Amino acid sequence: AGNSFEPTEINILTGHFDAHLIKKDFPILNETVNGKPLIWFDNAATTQKPKSVIERIAYFYEHENSNIHSAAHELAARASDAYEAARDKVKVFLNANSVNEIVFVRGATEGINLVAQSWGEHNLVAGDEIIVSNLEHHANIVPWKRLADKKGIKLRVIPVDDDGQILLDEYAKLLNSKTRLIAFTQVSNALGTVTPAKKIVEMAHAAGAKVLIDGAQSVSHMKVDVQDLNPDWLVFSGHKLFGPTGIGALYGKEELLNEMQPYQSGGNMIQDVTFEEIKYHKAPNRFEAGTGNIADAIGLGAAIDYVTKIGIDAIGQYEHQLLDYATKLLKEIPGVRLIGTAAHKASVLSFNLQGYTNDQVGQALNREGIAVRTGHHCAQPILRRMGVETTVRPSLAFYNTTQDVDVFIKTIRELKKVRF
Ligand code: PLP
Repeated sequence: AGNSFEPTEINILTGHFDAHLIKKDFPILNETVNGKPLIWFDNAATTQKPKSVIERIAYFYEHENSNIHSAAHELAARASDAYEAARDKVKVFLNANSVNEIVFVRGATEGINLVAQSWGEHNLVAGDEIIVSNLEHHANIVPWKRLADKKGIKLRVIPVDDDGQILLDEYAKLLNSKTRLIAFTQVSNALGTVTPAKKIVEMAHAAGAKVLIDGAQSVSHMKVDVQDLNPDWLVFSGHKLFGPTGIGALYGKEELLNEMQPYQSGGNMIQDVTFEEIKYHKAPNRFEAGTGNIADAIGLGAAIDYVTKIGIDAIGQYEHQLLDYATKLLKEIPGVRLIGTAAHKASVLSFNLQGYTNDQVGQALNREGIAVRTGHHCAQPILRRMGVETTVRPSLAFYNTTQDVDVFIKTIRELKKVRF
């Protein structure tokens, strides 16, 4: 307690959850950095991959590689089946109604751009209003800001309180008959705030607006059920869910997707082409022009299998306790300012350490083998709202242990001893 820090392995393991065992499934976590075992605390930027994902991608290239859909040969059938099976895994993972609601995209960024350029371009007019929250990642600001500037749409922002939580009363005041869309994050990548997503969606729909949820930071930490949350669209990136880079998913309500204009055009997305007329496929193919990222979609399916086997609820519960443990110890260190103190948080501990630049803290942690992100985390508006330009941001995942946290806390304590 207090300043008398002793490394501890407190018993925070819930049920049969054993992060030490889980760690063994991730080959990269055997790496050493500066002679120290790697501690990966940069999970909000990207997550590491279990062996099952790495092996599934290798298996594809060794046994199944082909372009998908229209071919008579065996490997085309294997590749198409595996790709569509991956889509079904995403559908089950999100509890969507149908595989037709799952569009493979490059990641959360592409999913948001797809909706902005397809639905936004064709359905919004000057005078309409779009609402985002102050918490958003640049990926959920820039596409809307560009659309707003181009079309004379008003972009409005839900403010947050000093802890970094969305102010629902202020949000209610922004909603009016001109509101067409609310685009907001379920978990803030910069602060870790978990927003009241279901309530935000309900209020948007009551006002007659559509809703896009940015699930980039939520799907790896909590059950995300699109039938329960009821957004019109939800996006996430595979690489933040222990899957490969370059693949993610856009969920959209089937009827709505089929009303939307294509995003990109070319092969795969058409039913019939003449020089006079083009007929598009229905969703999801209508939004998957060209050869997609077949291998990585299948890798994402393997990541979902892995997470599902461990259980997303068990993961969330374990991480919650790990975050509480780390938060308590970090807050006790004099000179630490924790940024983002909402009651409901996931994974992220953003902070500044008095007497040090964030880069100096990041480098000191790197010397101990600990990887954290320092910088503005592509979320400048919320950091400025909290009165800072940048932070040090450790972000936890289910393969992190209390020992990892202890090494991190010890390093920060030692820095503090030098300067105070
Ligand atoms: N939204 C949030 C909340 C994020 O944290 C990120 C990535 O950091 C993104 C969107 C963009 O994800 P990607 O770069 O994988 O498209």
